[in-house]
Amino acid sequence: MVKLSFLGAARSVTGSQFLVDTGTTKVLVDCGLVQGCHHCEGINTRPFAFNPKEIDAVVVTHAHIDHAGLLPKLVAEGFRGPIYATPATRDFAALLLEDSIQVMLGDVGGREDALPYKENDVAPTVAQFETAEYEKEIRVASDVSFTLHDAGHVLGSAIVELVAAGIRIGFSGDLGNPPTPLLRNTETLKAADYLVVESTYGDRVHEDRETRKELLHDIIDDTIHKRGVLMMPIFAFERAQEILFELNDLREHQKIPQVPVFIDSPMAIKATEIYKRYPQYYNREATYLIASGDDLFKFPGLSFTPTVEESKRINEVAPPKVILAGGGMMQGGRISHHALHYLPDPNSSLLIVGYQAAGSLGRRLLARPPKVRIFEKDVVVRARIKAIGGYSAHADQNGLLEWVLAPQGVKRVFVVHGEEAASLALRQRIRDETGLDAVVPYLGSSVTLQ
Ligand code: ZN
Repeated sequence: MVKLSFLGAARSVTGSQFLVDTGTTKVLVDCGLVQGCHHCEGINTRPFAFNPKEIDAVVVTHAHIDHAGLLPKLVAEGFRGPIYATPATRDFAALLLEDSIQVMLGDVGGREDALPYKENDVAPTVAQFETAEYEKEIRVASDVSFTLHDAGHVLGSAIVELVAAGIRIGFSGDLGNPPTPLLRNTETLKAADYLVVESTYGDRVHEDRETRKELLHDIIDDTIHKRGVLMMPIFAFERAQEILFELNDLREHQKIPQVPVFIDSPMAIKATEIYKRYPQYYNREATYLIASGDDLFKFPGLSFTPTVEESKRINEVAPPKVILAGGGMMQGGRISHHALHYLPDPNSSLLIVGYQAAGSLGRRLLARPPKVRIFEKDVVVRARIKAIGGYSAHADQNGLLEWVLAPQGVKRVFVVHGEEAASLALRQRIRDETGLDAVVPYLGSSVTLQ
């Protein structure tokens, strides 16, 4: 008998945290930060639902902060066991945890006591990582083992196939949206007793890959034609590298003229360096391109602007130009400065390629309001606002359903990691089309699996 508790990302998107307890062994799958939550101050500082000293091991699906962002709090409160993840996830986690604490410190005016953990809790956390390669079974205790499979969501991301007291549970982590320019396809499980599946896009269907590339091509053409500025808010990793890859491809096939392209995000620049470190995780196409001598992250006109001074100088470059800037949901980050400048310009465009949480500036802009507030200023919105869902790093409803359908022997599916409506929509489709038992667990609830 195994107890599975849904301690985060239940009827919400962020804060992934699932506890598997066999009675003798306790393993936590993900330990994420709750993000983008306006009415829940203190939610990340509240005590864990368990004693961190009693946890035997943590398995981390991938480095995104909503999956790994509370690991330093766990370590600060006495967890001394291994944190298992792929080597790429460990490197990205080091980068993202470092950044996350700085962002949080900025938000609370430097008051460390208002935060879930302290700046110097990050290094010991990173030191507690133990790397696990895909498809290699790792024994955590006499009654628990796990195997990671490529989730195709971000470089190094994993699906966790956990066997606890003989019960096989598949945790999707975040599932990718193949085919992608760089990553391998999402793996499926052969068999599982229970599945815990994400549902970020549980109620949506994305454009296909060719359509998204055409849309990108069109919007770049249009912006260049009007001599405007194309702004793209990017998450530090994955989307940034994918868009770079696509731009590289469009340039090399002479489909777009040479215009200045800026990667205006210190994080994205560092993440690109980590990408270069793990070519063994790339898909066949990207591996072939590298073997043929192509540098995937370099083309004429492309500049990286790590410093604030370099970032400010982007304004002095005459349009047309393309700016990929940090602040994926436009909650702060350098993209906000560019938005302040160019949202009022009817010749410019804002292209959104990633998930925008409810309440974020990116989400509000998608509704094309006449004006928005940025840095306490009213900003008139005249620029074109476009979104391409196909670049999402998350599987859509069809992809999620396909993943759920693959394994044999599934007794029940737990739908997590989605806004409630998205989770409920996926649950309904699973029930209607597969006849499988699917539920959307409540936050803090537990089930007994047998
Ligand atoms: Zn993710």
